[in-house]
Amino acid sequence: MKILVPVKRVVDYNVKVRVKPDGSAVDIANVKMSMNPFDEIAVEEAVRLREAGVATEVIAVSCGVTQCQETLRTAMAIGADRAILVESTEELQPLAVAKILKALVDKEQPQLIILGKQAIDDDSNQTGQMLAALAGLPQATFASKVTVADGRVSVAREIDGGSETLSLTLPAVITTDLRLNEPRYVTLPNIMKAKKKPMETIKPADLGVDVTPRLKTLKVAEPPQRSAGVKVPDVKTLVEKLKTEAKVL
Ligand code: AMP
Repeated sequence: MKILVPVKRVVDYNVKVRVKPDGSAVDIANVKMSMNPFDEIAVEEAVRLREAGVATEVIAVSCGVTQCQETLRTAMAIGADRAILVESTEELQPLAVAKILKALVDKEQPQLIILGKQAIDDDSNQTGQMLAALAGLPQATFASKVTVADGRVSVAREIDGGSETLSLTLPAVITTDLRLNEPRYVTLPNIMKAKKKPMETIKPADLGVDVTPRLKTLKVAEPPQRSAGVKVPDVKTLVEKLKTEAKVL
């Protein structure tokens, strides 16, 4: 069985993002970019399923600019077998990505599609759900445990105050939560091996997908600066201030 893993190139989670002076977007010029952390977990899970003999092939796919090739090479260094770059310089919103992925699902016929629960740049948490709807497939989001057996996949999901276990027929869409696994460290020999693995490049139009944005960003702003705190001499003053100024007591 094949597993398709969509991986997004995003601003590295250690980078403090800056907004462009005109407030139109986040400035990504000269900023370190990496694979979305939830997608690393998705690749790790898919590779573990292949190593366990459950899957036969793991295909990583990324939609975006040419540099997404680096993200795909990382996915292959973790252990994906091959990669597809759906190249586009346009802004790709979740619906456009979901349409591209739907076309690839039709073409590749994977039994599982494992996505991240959200991309840390747009925090949309939409693509997996939209893909499941477009492809008419069952979905289990926020997965913390995945078990494939007897033509079904059992997924433990993180929900408020606990965990819920779903059993889905295959093919199915899964999105990963943080506790699903801890991705392996990418070693130099595996980075070298990944350079030789196949990578196909196609355009959204080759899949018959129109990626025209549906949403317009009106303004992007930094969070307001926190104002400086004050020191109080004793508990009595603190309680007084909490009552009169903060009005929380
Ligand atoms: P989002 O709905 O934007 O929060 O993204 C959720 C997940 O969809 C990500 O963790 C990725 O697995 C996948 N995804 C979103 N955008 C892309 C993209 N441009 N290329 C590949 N996968 C993507």
